[in-house]
Amino acid sequence: MKAAVISKFKDKLEIKDLPIPEVAAKDVLVKVHACGVCHTDLHACNGDWPVKPKLPLVPGHEGVGEVVAIGAEIHHLKIGERVGIPWLYSACGQCDYCLEGKETLCLEQRNSGYSIDGSFAEYCLAHGEYVVKVPDGLSYVDAAPLFCAGVTSYKALKVSGVKPGQWMAIVGVGGLGHLAIQYAVAMGMKVVAIDTGAEKLALAKKLGAIHCIDFMQDKPSERIHELLGGVHGVVCTAVSKAAFEESYRSVRRGGTFVLVGLPPEDMSVPIFDTVLNGIKLIGSIVGTRKDLKECLQFAADGKVKAIIEVKSMNEINEVFADMKQGEITGRIVMSMD
Ligand code: NAD
Ligand code: ZN
Ligand code: ZN
Repeated sequence: MKAAVISKFKDKLEIKDLPIPEVAAKDVLVKVHACGVCHTDLHACNGDWPVKPKLPLVPGHEGVGEVVAIGAEIHHLKIGERVGIPWLYSACGQCDYCLEGKETLCLEQRNSGYSIDGSFAEYCLAHGEYVVKVPDGLSYVDAAPLFCAGVTSYKALKVSGVKPGQWMAIVGVGGLGHLAIQYAVAMGMKVVAIDTGAEKLALAKKLGAIHCIDFMQDKPSERIHELLGGVHGVVCTAVSKAAFEESYRSVRRGGTFVLVGLPPEDMSVPIFDTVLNGIKLIGSIVGTRKDLKECLQFAADGKVKAIIEVKSMNEINEVFADMKQGEITGRIVMSMD
């Protein structure tokens, strides 16, 4: 099978011919039809984070396709069923986190396209208990970005506790951010969006943001305090320490800052202001199978639709180059068909 492989951090990916993986008892084999390209894939290929991926690695954790083989212990799926393979490849199912429905915090978790080969390939192995079905009526291409960008954005908004009618700032209108705006609007929040460039800000407006701020022209936190006296919540998806510091300063008293983007550098948090202003800081990592089911339903109901450009697997190095420059509007989805 054809797959995009990274063998050394910061090198280019190579398209290789790999054997189709063998199915063990709890696995399913998925013929991948489409896979979105997440900024996390670029972090993986650069070795950006303290926990490193396996090498060589087939990245990709927004793969969707059809089940073509099923392990002996998986009984709830059929051949031909349409499923997606999220970042959470598997968890232990037995620890406190798993038992509380917080499987994305499981210490035994494995991650598709990171600790296990992912979906930048014609076929991908998945754990039968952790794939999630794609609702009828949602195409493979439209469903792919929801398996990470969609569910991560949706979950971050959920944990923010921001209520309908309150202000939510979405920082970074990229793959995650452009979906976060749509989920926030669908959840009844009023949105202010922050990124740079006419194209991304016009998209944010079109997707329902009431105010759009160009971070190269204005200081977002100052503008947000002028306009709104601060936001009730902010979800920061930008790959930038400066964006996190600005996000922190944008929150009104009693508000919530949800940290989602994963820039390699750290920010410092002022203790005095956090205490006196009663600020809540929440880290949010992808979403559970239940979150995914909910987030897919928004799309199946026509309330959310990723803005997508379709490319082929052969173009992955150019896609990464554009992503590094912040030149992608919406999400790139690789079609394997
Ligand atoms: P992306 O490249 O599509 O989007 C990032 C956006 O941030 C770009 O539009 C860029 O212009 C914008 N940006 C850069 N600097 C900014 C600033 N100072 N202020 C406002 N916007 C700014 O990336 P993506 O695929 O959306 O991923 C974003 C980040 O989220 C990555 O670090 C990724 O690893 C991380 N991520 C986290 C989770 C999670 O579970 N927490 C899941 C998926 C991705
Ligand atoms: Zn991702
Ligand atoms: Zn567990």
